[in-house]
Amino acid sequence: MTELATRTMPLPSLDVAAVRADFPILTRQVHGRPLVYLDNAATSQTPRQVIEVFADYYGRYNANIHRGLHTLADEATAAFEETREHVRRFLNAAESREIVFTRGTTEAINLVANAWGRANLVAGDEVLVSRMEHHSNIVPWQLLARELGVVIKVIPVDDRGVLDLAAYGELFTDRTRLVAVNHVSNAFGTINPVREMAAMAHDAGAMILVDGAQAAPHQAIDVRAIDADFYAFSAHKVYGPTGAGVLYGKASLFEAMPPWQGGGEMIETVSFEEPTTFAGIPHKFEAGTPAIAEVIALGEALAWVERTGIEAIGAWEGRLLAHATAGVSRIDGLRILGTAPDKAGVLSFVVDGAHAQDIGLLIDQLGVAIRTGHHCAQPLLAQFGVDATCRASFAAYNTLEEVDILVDGLHRVIGMLR
Ligand SMILES: *Cc1c(COP(=O)(O)O)cnc(C)c1O
Repeated sequence: MTELATRTMPLPSLDVAAVRADFPILTRQVHGRPLVYLDNAATSQTPRQVIEVFADYYGRYNANIHRGLHTLADEATAAFEETREHVRRFLNAAESREIVFTRGTTEAINLVANAWGRANLVAGDEVLVSRMEHHSNIVPWQLLARELGVVIKVIPVDDRGVLDLAAYGELFTDRTRLVAVNHVSNAFGTINPVREMAAMAHDAGAMILVDGAQAAPHQAIDVRAIDADFYAFSAHKVYGPTGAGVLYGKASLFEAMPPWQGGGEMIETVSFEEPTTFAGIPHKFEAGTPAIAEVIALGEALAWVERTGIEAIGAWEGRLLAHATAGVSRIDGLRILGTAPDKAGVLSFVVDGAHAQDIGLLIDQLGVAIRTGHHCAQPLLAQFGVDATCRASFAAYNTLEEVDILVDGLHRVIGMLR
């Protein structure tokens, strides 16, 4: 984009009052105060349109999909498969058969580790994983390492919480088979240059899996521009329900992979006399009855994001983050962890003389929900010498006033704890 085009383009705007009106939960009180929900990196709240889709499914066309020949089964199948096409558009994938529905990001990564990993990795092969990964993008690889003798190498992180790309480049050898990295860190909010990382992986003859659990809610995703081989996200972090998620994989890779779980839906014919044959992709990877209502509701969540505008959401969260960062920086003895120049709406911090857990418990009394703990990223926190942080994370419906309530609340509870 030219500089001129950037300057003359209107900033995408967001009508926060209208956004808030879509979320019934935001009217509730906690300990007699209005809820200030700042735990969006753990799970986001759900707009009424998504809740209605859920109720509509169970109230009108609940039926198992794919095998039925009756009207309800047809309607449920159509809605389920339309969501697959919707997710394809959302990720800019080439074909809808590159979209596999899972229970979430964790199951998507385990699918790759088990189906792709077991078929393609042997002892001595190397998988590169960054120090800032969520446990769900570490442990599946460690399980494989234990069983197959695969070697895990760790991409280092500097003291701002930024991946060291030069060191990353040095880690490649002729045994490197896969890079597994998050697009956005859930613990610190760092946005990683996954496009560049994919190019480096491919130059070295390796594949790349991108954990997009924290990216999908905040920025437009284009799996083809990234050139990701696999890309995963969860519905419940992008204004959808729990229990559904997505694994994108390039068609050629999916086709060459054996199934992971066996069961109904994923077969062509089953026999005791002849070899059982499998369905084509994506159904080969969707054994058993999927989370039908949850997947259909995910489609509505993506529609909600598209109507609101992902650029507008990302820009608004950037304002909230800047306001919160400025506010907490005035608190004595507070240290922000994760100071990367490129960050999504996550603010992680520790405070001298006050335990993260105590801060979290006390600020809950003021109606403010933040997360405290290791955020499923113990290796990253260990590097910074802490075992827990406080984390405030922002979504489209948060306001500058809520950030002020957080900052005032922190002043109060830290004062009580010292
Ligand atoms: C939440 C999260 C996961 C795990 O997602 P689930 O929905 O719990 O499966 C993985 N990676 C990142 C970066 C996350 O934020």
